Amino acid sequence: MSASRHPALLSTDPELASFVAAEEVLQAQTLRLIPSENYVSAAVLEASGTVLQNKYSEGYPGRRYYEGQQNIDRVEALAIERAKGLFGVDHANVQPYSGSPANLAVYLAFAKPGDTVMGMALPMGGHLTHGWGVSATGSWFRGVQYGVQADTGLIDYDAVRELALAERPKLIFCGGTALPRTIDFAAFASIAEEAGSILVADVAHIAGLIAGGAHPSPAGHVDVISTTTHKTLRGPRGAMLMCREEHAKAIDKAVFPGLQGGPHNQTTAGIAVALHEAAQPSFTAYAHAVVANAKALAAALLERGFDLVSGGTDNHLILIDLTGKDVPGKVAAKALDRAGIVVNYNTVPFDPRKPFDPSGVRIGTPSLTSRGLGVAHMPQVADWIARSVDAAAKGDEPALAAVRAEVADLMAAFPAPGLPLS
Ligand SMILES: *Cc1c(COP(=O)(O)O)cnc(C)c1O
Repeated sequence: MSASRHPALLSTDPELASFVAAEEVLQAQTLRLIPSENYVSAAVLEASGTVLQNKYSEGYPGRRYYEGQQNIDRVEALAIERAKGLFGVDHANVQPYSGSPANLAVYLAFAKPGDTVMGMALPMGGHLTHGWGVSATGSWFRGVQYGVQADTGLIDYDAVRELALAERPKLIFCGGTALPRTIDFAAFASIAEEAGSILVADVAHIAGLIAGGAHPSPAGHVDVISTTTHKTLRGPRGAMLMCREEHAKAIDKAVFPGLQGGPHNQTTAGIAVALHEAAQPSFTAYAHAVVANAKALAAALLERGFDLVSGGTDNHLILIDLTGKDVPGKVAAKALDRAGIVVNYNTVPFDPRKPFDPSGVRIGTPSLTSRGLGVAHMPQVADWIARSVDAAAKGDEPALAAVRAEVADLMAAFPAPGLPLS
């Protein structure tokens, strides 16, 4: 049925087409709570699937190593101008293939292997690429890590400052993947200045909130802003690096030729469209709705007896701490999946369990807000989560199936671009 949307794919490769069609149905019928995911607009979806795909464009607009760039240059220049305007920065590079390579380019621009770099520890909510051991950034550089306070779940800025002054890292990363609270970029900036470090704000998760004015901006506080384009920013899978003019050359050289070859022009086009959409008043409303939904969902979960890291949220993300329940994070996440509620299991700060079998579940509201759910729906969502976690504890599969049917029923009324209607 929905495979008819891709007639050439269906006739050339019916097996693959069937997987895509099944994914469309899955995305349509489930409640997607993974905070790093979203639904792109129909325009972004179209831009990302164009013949721009066919073009090689090593270099930058006006300075390419291949001919025939008349249109590609305009696409990339437009994306760059829109990024600069939206985030209020001097310079933007829209070529990084994704968030992790973007961060690696920052290391290449400012550090040498073996240099000390500082970021938030992965189990505390940081990202692998902020110098964590299993990442290339943690084996090629000397990573030192800060965390959150045990009692509040909040970053201890005095401890960050002490560590920075003791270690004098080349780079300091702020931002993360499981941080439910506002990041104080000014506080990090004064620490980085004192320590003589380059400060990088990795806003992969919150870029859309920043663009929509629902989280303070790091612009003017930090040396480099790194972001993915596919999370709250609601663009195609990709990334951007933004910086002050003084760092523009170093950043551009690090991305190409330092780390990458030809940019993915079809993605650049999708990024340009997403940036245009993010500059509209409707996106400002979206960003604020994401936060309002997250706060309402957090309150409804607290009412139902859940523990939340830091006691709630300021942004799009909620970290549920299940250490007090009989169900560990992975068991809960898998049960929720069977109930049509898609989340990921996650460590919580000071987790007594192992990273592959942790105590937390990470959820967020970017996707459900894109589909049009509002604060009035959040008690229902919290109810489904509570019933599913309960059912997981009791091994009650029929209860999970019942939730799944209710979820599919509600989601049928909230379509998203590219998904089948029924
Ligand atoms: C998602 C994320 C990344 C990595 O992005 P990928 O596109 O998955 O490589 C980097 N940093 C942070 C903080 C993220 O949340």
